[in-house]
Amino acid sequence: MTPEELADRVRDGELRIHELEEHAPADVAAEARRLFVASETGTDLDTIGDYAFEAADAEPNIENMIGGAQLPMGIVGPIPVDGTADAETTYLPLATTEGALLASINRGCATMRAAGGASARVLKNAMTRAPVFRTGDVVGASETVSWIRANESRLAEVAESTTSHGELRGVTPYVVGDNVFARFAYDTKDAMGMNMATIATEAACELIVEETPAELIALSGNLCSDKKPAAINSVEGRGRTVAADVEIPRDVVESYLKTTPEAIAEANTRKNHVGSAKAGALGFNAHAANTIAAAFLATGQDPAQVVEGSNAITTADVRDGDLYASLTCASLEVGTVGGGTKLPTQSEALDVVGVRGGGDPPGANADALAETIATAALAGELSLLGALASNHLASAHEQLGR
Ligand code: NAP
Repeated sequence: MTPEELADRVRDGELRIHELEEHAPADVAAEARRLFVASETGTDLDTIGDYAFEAADAEPNIENMIGGAQLPMGIVGPIPVDGTADAETTYLPLATTEGALLASINRGCATMRAAGGASARVLKNAMTRAPVFRTGDVVGASETVSWIRANESRLAEVAESTTSHGELRGVTPYVVGDNVFARFAYDTKDAMGMNMATIATEAACELIVEETPAELIALSGNLCSDKKPAAINSVEGRGRTVAADVEIPRDVVESYLKTTPEAIAEANTRKNHVGSAKAGALGFNAHAANTIAAAFLATGQDPAQVVEGSNAITTADVRDGDLYASLTCASLEVGTVGGGTKLPTQSEALDVVGVRGGGDPPGANADALAETIATAALAGELSLLGALASNHLASAHEQLGR
């Protein structure tokens, strides 16, 4: 059937919009949907239809596809990061519509290079899923928690039977009245791991339900906590917990950031710590989400997880007249396999970082990606703090972003 015929059948109510792939290849179905939507809304969708990947390849990633959303993508770097995964001097593609962002991050990267480079380390890798159970009363809750604590190795055996990569690292029970939440934490290697953790946890839940008074109410009980601002992720971590730091000589701060270590440290304390505390924020940073969101879009991460990604704390201290700065992301959820990482532009972007696909050993690529993003985010912090400390922020945006 042609796209025109399919669009007519949708218009006549003979086919529903999500049924088109049953009658035509995915790219034809997408074109038919565009024709239908364009005629219904009086719009022109030519640009949305001008995408550079196979519609069939995107089927696991999207329903009701009409085309592709395109964003400008730029590059920052070299990012001089010495990480656990042998990351060398590397570049990071970023997709954004915020003018001045890449220029700012790049200024931070140049500052780090002049300072001799930054370090970054993944400190923890634990993707979580926390089902909620009804246990009847507090006695039932207590019995369920005791059973979970005593049977962690059995839970691991069942959970890990669903995956050849994931490893259960622990189960932490929480009780509220007769509600029991079991926060399962997995090393998901190179996958961001949300599907992997969900499937593994579902299997483990069957065992809990069989052997305790608990009834499963929801496989996700929001203590996970996925795609919602939540202090538990800031404290316990989720996905990769990763830290980056750099020591910058005073003369480098002065020549590259046009200010002093003291001014940056003071701006960081008053803005990122005092201001964030007063605001009740979970992220004590200047704009880590800017770098993280742009890196997520470029490299095929789940964009909604920028929520957790922004749980980051920036520190800045004067040490012997020089500047020491760090950024710690408590919950940076990244992968180099699965999800959107398979799509062509996203795969190419991962190639640029040198982390496409599974790492050797498994997990090494996702670690390197997390370290690269954290270091680029630290570069963005340094540049923005420098701009604020030297009162250049408004003029930089005027020149570059408008
Ligand atoms: P996935 O695409 O569902 O699965 C990736 C799979 O790749 C793994 O399960 C693993 O298979 C395999 N794999 C191959 N080489 C690997 C390696 N080196 N390291 C790790 N795994 C390797 O991806 P996912 O990361 O589990 O989940 C990400 C997707 O979940 C995204 O599309 C995201 O949008 C979506 N998501 C889902 C939920 C949910 O609740 N289900 C919530 C938020 C987001 P084996 O397991 O067989 O080893």
